[in-house]
Amino acid sequence: MRKFDLIEPKSLAEACALLGNHPDAKAVAGGTALLTIIKQGLLLPKLLVNLKKIIDGSAITFDPVQGLRIGALATINEIETSEIVNRHYPALAEACHVVANIRIRNMATIGGNLCHGDYQSDPPTVLAALDACVEVMSAANVRQLALTDFQLGSYETALQPGELLSAVVIPPLPAGMSGHYVKFTTGSSEERPCAGVAALARIDGGVCRELRLAVGAVSAKPSRITAEALAKDKILTADLITTIAAEAARAIDPIDDVRGSADYKRHLVGVLTRRALEQLANGKTEMKS
Ligand SMILES: Cc1cc2nc3c(=O)[nH]c(=O)nc-3n(C[C@H](O)[C@H](O)[C@H](O)COP(=O)(O)OP(=O)(O)OC[C@H]3O[C@@H](n4cnc5c(N)ncnc54)[C@H](O)[C@@H]3O)c2cc1C
Repeated sequence: MRKFDLIEPKSLAEACALLGNHPDAKAVAGGTALLTIIKQGLLLPKLLVNLKKIIDGSAITFDPVQGLRIGALATINEIETSEIVNRHYPALAEACHVVANIRIRNMATIGGNLCHGDYQSDPPTVLAALDACVEVMSAANVRQLALTDFQLGSYETALQPGELLSAVVIPPLPAGMSGHYVKFTTGSSEERPCAGVAALARIDGGVCRELRLAVGAVSAKPSRITAEALAKDKILTADLITTIAAEAARAIDPIDDVRGSADYKRHLVGVLTRRALEQLANGKTEMKS
């Protein structure tokens, strides 16, 4: 392990000021991604700014008008077990539950997951379907941007020097919207996803009024699938599900990587989309707003 200095600020503002004043410093939260990179010698920061001692950085709160606010320092396990998240956004709890294993989920934070920017992640896919925004803070101001604008590419985010992600904000869902996240790994169930699909729908008297479909882990960032519009005011029949799943597989632009070829991922997205839509059509999991 390389040598570095460690500073433990007590507030996000203090942490932003430290990062702004030390260009070669790096923020560390759970350390599950960063410390691996340091051990591998890929990054050698002289100073680590430990965010874990920050007070109130992990609060999870819900307001019927503003929606859900998750402090960036909330661990993946705190999100998956949060009574608030399970009541209002169970698909997010579902996605957090399938991240790695309980040891990682106890350490890893949602801020670290998003700022690390690894495209083979689970939470960003469901957050894209939930129309999530992120709150980014610097010593000078706070700005909010859509998650899809925050994630620029593989290991690339819109974070500027001296900025920290302070929270994830999710708008309230339309009443009656339910949803699922389905993941497939090519190794053990604890591994990063080869592909992940989040599907949320508002079904009223058997008719789908709104469908949201997001695909992740197959290319540099999660994407919303325009075929979601095909379900508007329709019954999710087997034929319609087959059409939307085929369209989702066609619409993505997957990349080859160690977890599978682009062709394999395209096929997988069709299968996962069909499974997620079948669960919705069968009325599993209620998302209460
Ligand atoms: C064995 C293993 C299996 C995994 N499996 C999965 C999986 O199945 N699904 C999945 O989604 N993920 C998986 N992961 C990834 C894991 O979710 C991430 O490593 C974790 O979420 C990163 O969070 P952290 O708090 O540990 O970040 P850290 O390692 O502390 O930091 C990661 C990066 O984010 C930056 N950072 C951290 N917090 C902030 C902040 N608030 N503002 C600005 N920058 C910040 C750091 O400077 C660093 O660049 C796995 C990881 C491991 C090690």
